[in-house]
Amino acid sequence: MTLQRWVRPNILAMAGYTPGEQPPAGQPVIKLNTNENPYGPPEVVRQAIVAAAGESLRLYPPPDARPVREAAARAYGVKPEQVVVGNGSDDLLTMVMRLFADTDRSVAAPDPTYTLYEPLTRMQNGRYVAVPWGENLALPVAELVATQAPLIIVTRPNAPTGHTVGLDAVADLCRRTSGVVLLDEAYADFADDTGLGLLPNHPNLLLIRSFSKSLSLAGLRIGLGFMSPALALEMHKVRDSYNLDRLAQAAATAALTHLEAFRPAIDAIRAERRRSTDQLRQRGFQVPESQANFILATVPPGIRTGAEWTAALKKQGILIRYFAADPRLADKLRITIGTPAEMDALFRAMDRVLAGREEAF
Ligand SMILES: *Cc1c(COP(=O)(O)O)cnc(C)c1O
Repeated sequence: MTLQRWVRPNILAMAGYTPGEQPPAGQPVIKLNTNENPYGPPEVVRQAIVAAAGESLRLYPPPDARPVREAAARAYGVKPEQVVVGNGSDDLLTMVMRLFADTDRSVAAPDPTYTLYEPLTRMQNGRYVAVPWGENLALPVAELVATQAPLIIVTRPNAPTGHTVGLDAVADLCRRTSGVVLLDEAYADFADDTGLGLLPNHPNLLLIRSFSKSLSLAGLRIGLGFMSPALALEMHKVRDSYNLDRLAQAAATAALTHLEAFRPAIDAIRAERRRSTDQLRQRGFQVPESQANFILATVPPGIRTGAEWTAALKKQGILIRYFAADPRLADKLRITIGTPAEMDALFRAMDRVLAGREEAF
């Protein structure tokens, strides 16, 4: 077939990323599978989008999203020159890969982690080196340094485990590697701390944030990157010219100037994470403490496999995430923290499965 001659071999050889299921609008499901926020964005953000949805839509947006970067700089105590904006943090990951990954420039990350890093590396024809987490899921600093990869990615809190490595270990990694460290902080707002404070002392550190989880805007695709002004200049070179549309820029600016408006939802999710962890443990699941807006639960032994639990919950209208491709996650369910009512529905559905009664649902 001629496709083999047209398409680059690294693309033909790779499996694409598999996103979580996004059911069609109007389907009555409880969606606990892709770590979205169960609460909508604050009114002030919606108003900013409506105000931007006018005549000016005929114009291109500010190419470098300057107003968003200025708002981000004020919100996070950095300079606008240190901020790069992405169409979701996935877009920032693509830019990072364009900058650092190539045939002779590998990418290393602890494993398991976010499954998008590997396909993005392979698109660049780079080699992806998965380094197992250390004992008790510690950051394997020496092993990561030993890969000599020009780019090392650390997800903090990590997905799908929900755990967080010490900031001292991240700083140690920055000091010891001769490459760049990317800290993916998609879930940092749900955690007890952030790595932002490491930036001034580590010029080889890049940090990315997402508006999709804590800031309730997954539908708009907004991400922020923080780094040294010199690295930011290189990132701008590999960015799509107008990568953040007008509506997203309006929403992002409003969100960044009203970050306190997101606090109640974030606090509610953290409280619900505590309650859900306890509730699942009472039902025989093994649930490590999570610093993110999801938990990774090991199913009780001898009743159902992870795949069977996933199917049994889906039958009852509840979507959770199951990683069929990774044998180490075969007995684990990744469950996004929803509202208390949604989680209660999950617990009831689980009780039916445990009692062997979900057939009657
Ligand atoms: C969700 C997620 C992202 C992507 O976020 P978007 O801003 O929606 O592109 C990046 N990294 C990790 C670890 C994530 O879980």
